[in-house]
Amino acid sequence: MAVPSKTIQVQAISPGIAMGRVMVLQRHSGSSVPVKKEILGSEIDGEMERFFNAVSLTKNQLLSLKEEMTAKLNSGDTAIIDVLITLTEDPSLTTEVKKRISKNLWNVEYAIYDTVEKYAQVFAEIQDEYLKERILDIKDVASRIIDNLSNSLPEDVKTEYRRIIFAPSLTPFQTAHLDSNTVLGFAVETGSQTCHTAILARSMRLPAISGIPTDLLDTLGADDKVIIDGFAGKLIINPDARQEEAYRLKLKETGDILTRLSKDNGTRSETSDGFVIRLAANIETIDQLDEARQLGSHGVGLFRTEFLFMNPLSIPGEDEQFEIYKQLLIASGDEPVTIRTMDIGGDKLCSGVSRNVEKNPFLGLRGIRLSLYERKDLFITQIRALMRAGVFGNLRILIPMVSSLIEVREVKEIISEQHIALHNENVHHLGSPALGVMIETPAAALMADKIGAEVDFFSIGTNDLVQYTMAIDRENDRVAYLYKPSHPAILQLIKLTVEAARKNRIFVAVCGQTAADPFMAPLLLGLGIQELSMSPTSIPMVRHAIRALAYSEAEAAANKALTCTTAAEALEIIEDLMRERAPELFLIN
Ligand code: PEP
Ligand code: MG
Repeated sequence: MAVPSKTIQVQAISPGIAMGRVMVLQRHSGSSVPVKKEILGSEIDGEMERFFNAVSLTKNQLLSLKEEMTAKLNSGDTAIIDVLITLTEDPSLTTEVKKRISKNLWNVEYAIYDTVEKYAQVFAEIQDEYLKERILDIKDVASRIIDNLSNSLPEDVKTEYRRIIFAPSLTPFQTAHLDSNTVLGFAVETGSQTCHTAILARSMRLPAISGIPTDLLDTLGADDKVIIDGFAGKLIINPDARQEEAYRLKLKETGDILTRLSKDNGTRSETSDGFVIRLAANIETIDQLDEARQLGSHGVGLFRTEFLFMNPLSIPGEDEQFEIYKQLLIASGDEPVTIRTMDIGGDKLCSGVSRNVEKNPFLGLRGIRLSLYERKDLFITQIRALMRAGVFGNLRILIPMVSSLIEVREVKEIISEQHIALHNENVHHLGSPALGVMIETPAAALMADKIGAEVDFFSIGTNDLVQYTMAIDRENDRVAYLYKPSHPAILQLIKLTVEAARKNRIFVAVCGQTAADPFMAPLLLGLGIQELSMSPTSIPMVRHAIRALAYSEAEAAANKALTCTTAAEALEIIEDLMRERAPELFLIN
């Protein structure tokens, strides 16, 4: 039965409006019974592929676990893991699951669950206690496989027609795989504006909201119609005719404004008194480059390479990465291309790179820490690929999550060593690529003066700078009220970084979400930032904001904002100015 009509206030995490029917992805918990779904004959191959991928991933994970344990214990003590590894290769288990998928037409999660239940019944009757307990191993392997399956979306998300996804949460990896031809938008229980799932949604132009009530997934069904408003943070379930009409109008209005803004794609992001600020693109895949350039980006301000490592079954090697970076550089011509070394950790967990579970992953071995102290092998491979690709364009290498100069020096040491190694191997490469540091921890901002003396540029990552300065998890919507980039503490850290860049005569960009905010962008311009890098879809809006102002006005607003005592006061200063100069921006934000 359809859920009664209602409107719920939630959090907007990706702008836009989506209207349509619902597809619910149920939560998976290790102990609960997976939902049983009937699949179509045409979906059998897809389900089989998911099954084999998940089994192979599970096996790889167990092998690395074994390696880790061997290093820590006596090798003989890894026998328990060996049993689990053997189970992933067990032909009878595989045959039973395959039968349930192809004959019963069950989804793979349920097929695994049912197979294990049948095994459990047989094992329960065995007298031998040792053998009886083997069922626990089978259950362990099965639950690992089901967990890994939850990292790949069910096949129907890809094939079903034009739905709005409702899910407990979506990982960045799942989001990157959503097909924007069939998915209209999504609504999740947890997530905030700057979590990577939201960042990807914006790049993909998918309206999204978070903070939906936790009982909703049990009540919503395929017959329910919803509107998600990713501007105002509203969810309307089964809207009445009046609400539908109002939203159709709003969709048209916002669409008209965006079309109008994109007409200026060929113009420069120049203030009315002639100051030019570079607008660059944040991208995760090379496919996004064309659209970014059409929208008027000048160069790539942030290529997030960690997305290359998301699929544990295909971690790219040196040659493969070299080809990707080379293509990106060639396609960008003379424009600068800032490639960030892998920022793995936090909410971007890549089981193919590290299986270590941390209590506080955002405060753990993330970014350059993981690259230097756990996966130096992978980091060296990446650096070599970058140095080889560097001869094909205007490359800048960016290091994420820096909190100490030691890390920067270690990276420089690796670059020099690889320069010698590549030279000795007779491999053509760029000997000393431009090297920059992400300023995204308060430690880096406070040390910017010293760090600036040893690198070529800064890129301020406000997503993390706000998180680490305000001591709030950027994914946690319960503390989202504190997530204010206009907070005086953040403005001071940005100012400090700009001053350090000026003193060291190096260049300073912002590549966090703040750069894409048409109200914050003028403030950053006024603070002395030289490049704003953002999801390509935000470029027309930010360019419009910049063109509506004089640099002197932005500078005056920034100076005034620096004297404010609260985030709201500082924001009000710039909003007042923008209300006069470009009031239409308030309709699409
Ligand atoms: C940032 O922290 O602002 C940033 C751009 O990096 P990421 O969002 O990938 O952490
Ligand atoms: Mg960051």
